[in-house]
Amino acid sequence: MEFAEKAKAYLAEIKKRDKEINAFLYINDNIVKEAEEIDKKSSKGRLYGYIFAIKSNINVKGMICNCASKVLENYRAGYDARAIEKIKKEDGLIIGMTNCDEFAAGGSGENSSFGATHNPRAPDRVAGGSSSGSAAAVAAGFCDVALGSDTGGSIRTPASHCGIVGVKPSYGLVSRYGLIDLSMSLDQIGPLANNISDAFLVLDVIRGKDERDNMTKDYGKISLEKVRDIKVGVLKIKGVEDRIQNLIDMRINEICKNNGWKKKEININHIDLAVQTYYPLVYSEFFSATRRFDGRRYGKKIEKACGEEVLRRILGGSEITKAEFEGAYYEKALAVKKIIAEEFEQAFKEVDCIMLPTCPGLPWKLGEGMKMKIEEIYAYDALTIPANLGGICAISIPAGKIDGVPIGMQIMCAKGKDARMLSIAKMTELINH
Ligand code: GLN
Repeated sequence: MEFAEKAKAYLAEIKKRDKEINAFLYINDNIVKEAEEIDKKSSKGRLYGYIFAIKSNINVKGMICNCASKVLENYRAGYDARAIEKIKKEDGLIIGMTNCDEFAAGGSGENSSFGATHNPRAPDRVAGGSSSGSAAAVAAGFCDVALGSDTGGSIRTPASHCGIVGVKPSYGLVSRYGLIDLSMSLDQIGPLANNISDAFLVLDVIRGKDERDNMTKDYGKISLEKVRDIKVGVLKIKGVEDRIQNLIDMRINEICKNNGWKKKEININHIDLAVQTYYPLVYSEFFSATRRFDGRRYGKKIEKACGEEVLRRILGGSEITKAEFEGAYYEKALAVKKIIAEEFEQAFKEVDCIMLPTCPGLPWKLGEGMKMKIEEIYAYDALTIPANLGGICAISIPAGKIDGVPIGMQIMCAKGKDARMLSIAKMTELINH
């Protein structure tokens, strides 16, 4: 199918079904024209034929990039994020901007100021967050691939809940230039896709050193390869529902048996502190990043127009960064972050990858999140946050279903080993999940 035909078909699907799913906050009605232009080109880029949905916290020139917040409701991006520039250069096209938790603060998609995203693969349940719309758009067949951002699980959790693939790259693999940050020392942009090959292609295009983000690093050429003799680290984290842990154990056994790989139980000693370490970092960095939303330059004053969770983080961040507490929270959290990173480094001397569930429970029913305690909601990220603290790469891939609801499995690899992680994932991919 020509690119323009495909774009037309996706637009029609979105118009027909997105009222129920609420994956998009902005649609690019110009996409068919843009596709026609590319169809006419004699030589085409690597992303020719790929239609993207982009999370609403990544700047795409001319499109509404409001972080699912009333604060930036009518903010139209004046430039392209680095990842977007690279996608456009390779002839990828953007069909619209997706729903998410406000400023990426959340794990269910329910914190959006424009209504929660519904899970296309599990009716009446949340899509997972914060990149809820990006995952739902891929799962619903509204696009080929999507970009999300992951600070503590926001790509992997919705990928798990929607039954697709989601990659959190190693910290520094993808430029954060043009990403509206939640927590600059943890955020990474990454792909959500139907399969590993698509996720790999997108990651290969968007990665790379960038003078606009001095934390980026060039990790050299990457490719998907057939991997052999893999030693799989099995990591157990407290709080996972038995039926989920059992499904993941079964998958790991199957994978090891089919490929002749060995497995080994491993421990990350400080992993139970991950959630408590993550929030002081996020609160402090988010508070600082939001000071520019003072109502003068962009949109409204954030404290006046934001939702409850964003306000909680701003107030909390302002409190813990006050001079009298200096060093008591942020610096302690940094110290534990470092320990967890070192423990991962140590673990990866013994094993090639680590496998574990993505989420401790099934996506909850829409509206249930509102009744949960904040500690319970925060604890839900206990399995995804460690990779962000460690700066390592992690992917969520479909592992099966429980009661008809998709369940994801994570594979983690050492920092910079993203291609190896995707190669391992490719060999474990379930067909027809
Ligand atoms: N759920 C986590 C949080 O609320 C992760 C968010 C994210 O990765 N953007 O901070």
